[in-house]
Amino acid sequence: AKAKGRDSFALFEPTLDTAARQRRETELQLREAMERGQLLLHYQPILALGTDTITGYEALVRWQHPERGLLYPSEFVAIAEASGLIVPLGEWIIHQALVESASWPEHLRIGINLSPTQVGSPRLVKTIAESLAISGIAPGRVDFEITEHVVLEGSEANRSTLYKLRELGASISLDDFGTGYSSLNYLRNFPFDRIKIDRDFVTGIVSSRESQAIVKTICRLADALGMATVAEGVEEAEQLEMLRRIGCSEAQGYLIGKPASEPLAAAQSRPDASG
Ligand code: C2E
Ligand code: CA
Ligand code: CA
Ligand code: CA
Repeated sequence: AKAKGRDSFALFEPTLDTAARQRRETELQLREAMERGQLLLHYQPILALGTDTITGYEALVRWQHPERGLLYPSEFVAIAEASGLIVPLGEWIIHQALVESASWPEHLRIGINLSPTQVGSPRLVKTIAESLAISGIAPGRVDFEITEHVVLEGSEANRSTLYKLRELGASISLDDFGTGYSSLNYLRNFPFDRIKIDRDFVTGIVSSRESQAIVKTICRLADALGMATVAEGVEEAEQLEMLRRIGCSEAQGYLIGKPASEPLAAAQSRPDASG
């Protein structure tokens, strides 16, 4: 294709146009989706390994698209993030998650994902404070999950935002830990209550000595720093057993429960995890 020189660009352009048009269309539809009530939240349970009880749920957004069916975040969250639509979408998610979880049993925590653009938005703290007040939920039950991208991008402003969320009484989790450019410096300079260990490491925890060593080390480090750990993507009983032995605080994954619209149903559908 290189040899064709300028002509290859002509061949390539329509493809780019189509992709761009599709993104634009999804973006326009997403705006309407919020108004038309097509968005919904699924909740995935988190199991405390010490007590073998469900301690909370993570909210995961879904889009009931009129033609395309149930869409997962991989099909629209990045588009929303790139277009800035993630701010109103995120406000809807926060509000909905807080209002719904306010009526759950009081010991249950609610985890809410915040994307980098959301954390960078000057409206975030105010809208969260308002939704907390309207829902009436105890702020101590609310956990915000952020990724290291939040830490990397505009770190001083984002750091202060995270401290403000903690002042409101919420806790903060560092999501997907171990992937990307994770630096130990983040753990020192940001106010994390919890580290979520990425599925990549949990998947290999039984078969790979390296994965096992990494998970062990993350758990010890978190422990020494006074932070809890959540292992993500637990699919097998052997993995759960290993996490118990390692001393990980909590676990989440299909073995414990898949994301579902009814949180308590998700907890009940879990196989006996006590081994
Ligand atoms: P995440 O925050 O790391 O969420 C965990 C993802 O792993 C979820 O995918 C969940 O369904 C999936 N998962 C959970 N347990 C297992 C398991 O045992 N095996 C496997 N293979 N997967 C498992 P989902 O719901 O498709 O969400 C993907 C990503 O989209 C999330 O990753 C998060 O980054 C983003 N996202 C989801 N909901 C929201 C939201 O409300 N707001 C924002 N800003 N981002 C969201
Ligand atoms: Ca998450
Ligand atoms: Ca994660
Ligand atoms: Ca992930």
